[in-house]
Amino acid sequence: MRAWPAPDVPTLTVTGPEVALHDTATGQLVPVVPEDGHARLYVCGITPYDATHMGHAATYVGFDLLNRAWRNAGHAVTYAQNVTDVDDPLLERAAKVGIDWVELAERETELFRQDMTALRVLPPAHYTGAVESIPLVIGLIERLRAAGAVYQVEDDLYFSVAADPTFGEESNYPRELMLEIFPERGGDPDRPGKKDPLDCVLWRAERPGEPSWPSPFGPGRPGWHIECSAISLEHLGTAFDVQGGGSDLVFPHHEMCAGHTQVATGERFAKVYAHAGMVAYDGEKMSKSKGNLVFVSALRNSDIDPMAIRLTLLRHHYRSDWEWTDAELFDSVDTLAQWRKALALGSGAPAGPVIEDVLEVLAADLDAPAAVELIQGWVDATLGVDGLADNTDHDAAGRIAAVLDAALGLSL
Ligand code: ZN
Repeated sequence: MRAWPAPDVPTLTVTGPEVALHDTATGQLVPVVPEDGHARLYVCGITPYDATHMGHAATYVGFDLLNRAWRNAGHAVTYAQNVTDVDDPLLERAAKVGIDWVELAERETELFRQDMTALRVLPPAHYTGAVESIPLVIGLIERLRAAGAVYQVEDDLYFSVAADPTFGEESNYPRELMLEIFPERGGDPDRPGKKDPLDCVLWRAERPGEPSWPSPFGPGRPGWHIECSAISLEHLGTAFDVQGGGSDLVFPHHEMCAGHTQVATGERFAKVYAHAGMVAYDGEKMSKSKGNLVFVSALRNSDIDPMAIRLTLLRHHYRSDWEWTDAELFDSVDTLAQWRKALALGSGAPAGPVIEDVLEVLAADLDAPAAVELIQGWVDATLGVDGLADNTDHDAAGRIAAVLDAALGLSL
């Protein structure tokens, strides 16, 4: 599947520090220094049945900071992302609105590409749909079968979590919490015939009126978790650097993805698991079921500068849960006008220390709010907000603009 076009990113004359990230599995801040200078990143993609909302945008902009921090530290990055272009929510929505599910998936995936392009998110090298990865999924299920980790309930295939000695090591959730969350996130703990309520579907046999594909296990379609295991294994191999996604993927999705790959290969899935916080609106987590969504495309259609959307996202640490407000968006619009005014001067306050500090705070668990504060400090000094303007650095503006783009993805 085609990704979206890559923005031009300036190359900085200074090299950033090595990156450290908060790892969900260990609860620690850990260095994510790639072997051989080549980082491998997987971030779980969308199920394309609706437009990109701010919760999605915050996740992809958050991991875009990681991609950029690695590049600024001098590393190459291979980035893979999936599109769950066949799954229950997509089929349910298509049936509800009376549209072909393929058409709905294509339309919403294209809108997502446009949103990511407008927000200057670096595209993945491998952007892979669930449908096109079915041969990979079948191959991985065969390996799991050979490892004795698969059983049948009626015509569906399940992954036995008991086959995974490391089960639970990614989320660290107690079993009671797993049992509580599982049905809320696509699981079916109460289905008769399962060995463990937490076992998840690998292959869902054909149902009347649903699309299916041939397989050695009969016609059907892939489960959600095996899709990401198969795609990441194909494009990134095992023990890749970072598995990322929203914090609602901590369990069961990332736990199961890790289990599938680890049981099939005997090797680690990802070295580090990183998770972005949830975005609320009107007092509740932004979600399709609540209907309290703020769409990137709707704001773009209202002539909101996408850089103001991005700046609003950057003002919140990627791991924090926060609430989107229109007031903050409009404040970002004003902030960008002030920043552009300072950059238009050409000369300004000394840029060197600001650039080094921006790279440093971003390398330390992607602290974008701190980076935004540092830029604001340079703007204030350059415009003389708190006294006399400092314009002793004659090429400051160009260098600040370059780090804004290369590190924060803000092109002004
Ligand atoms: Zn995934």
